[in-house]
Amino acid sequence: MLGISPQFSGITFSGSPLDRLGNHRRDAAWLAARRQDASTRYLLLHELKPLVKLTEAGAALVWFPAQFVTAGAQDTNALADAPCVLLGQVDGATYFALDADGLEGIAGLADETHKFIDVRSIAPQLAPGEAAVLAQARSMIDWHKRHGFCAQCGSRSAMEDAGYSRRCGNEACKAQHFPRTDPVVIMLAVHDGNLLLGRQPQFMPGMYSALAGFMEPGESIEEAVRRELHEEAGVRVGDVRYIASQPWPFPSSLMIGCIAEVTDPTIAVDRHELEDARWFSREQAEKMLAASTGLNAPLRLPPPIGLAHHIVKHYLQGNPR
Ligand SMILES: [Zn+2]
Repeated sequence: MLGISPQFSGITFSGSPLDRLGNHRRDAAWLAARRQDASTRYLLLHELKPLVKLTEAGAALVWFPAQFVTAGAQDTNALADAPCVLLGQVDGATYFALDADGLEGIAGLADETHKFIDVRSIAPQLAPGEAAVLAQARSMIDWHKRHGFCAQCGSRSAMEDAGYSRRCGNEACKAQHFPRTDPVVIMLAVHDGNLLLGRQPQFMPGMYSALAGFMEPGESIEEAVRRELHEEAGVRVGDVRYIASQPWPFPSSLMIGCIAEVTDPTIAVDRHELEDARWFSREQAEKMLAASTGLNAPLRLPPPIGLAHHIVKHYLQGNPR
């Protein structure tokens, strides 16, 4: 249902067509009206999985009309009270995500052609706009599920602002909490035309990727890139160039893709973090990129769902921004 936005860049989970409507989130009357409008659509997440319609033509998210949610169809009459997050609006229709866990009748919505499928598995098969909206829905619903209590005083908190904050219920505290996004740097280190790639023990056999790590408080993107590459692979880095970013809703990361110019290419692998890291020639990397969607190549890069795929491709195409 949700198509490709003009900004679509080919990076999975980016390119949402929705206007997020940040200025309407506190307007209770507007929200109540939109929630019941005939053009409104709801995405139901069951154990953080969306209901997907599978046809020969492909996969698409199942969007339920407002009537289904508010009229109590199919024993799901608790749906109207389920935790609900505003996703946004496009072409005059408003979209919401509902946490349908624990509601009677939800599992029964699945049948031969409609299945609840985990986001990582289904995302590459969805229209890009739908994958992006699904990322937003999954991260938001997951945050509410894990943040029912105030981090300041431990009292129960409640959803506010159409899902974009929680307020502590303790009158003496009333602290407001906001959904988190955790920045991760993912960087392709290069030196003399060669590419530094590594693998973690849990990777599929033969897969090598750009190195990555969570940013730390009080750190710039460039500093995080230099620190991670030195900690994990021992190399020293000079210039760092930002290339592209990707929302990664497991649960709420933002991948920040960079290319890093290495000044000292001597490798010392941190075996706690990596199984291996080594330099690959441009020719090797081109073959690994071409093999990225298969499972049988002895050496390959991650498939296009991962940002590493796009950063390596960008570098190989010799198109630095
Ligand atoms: Zn509190």
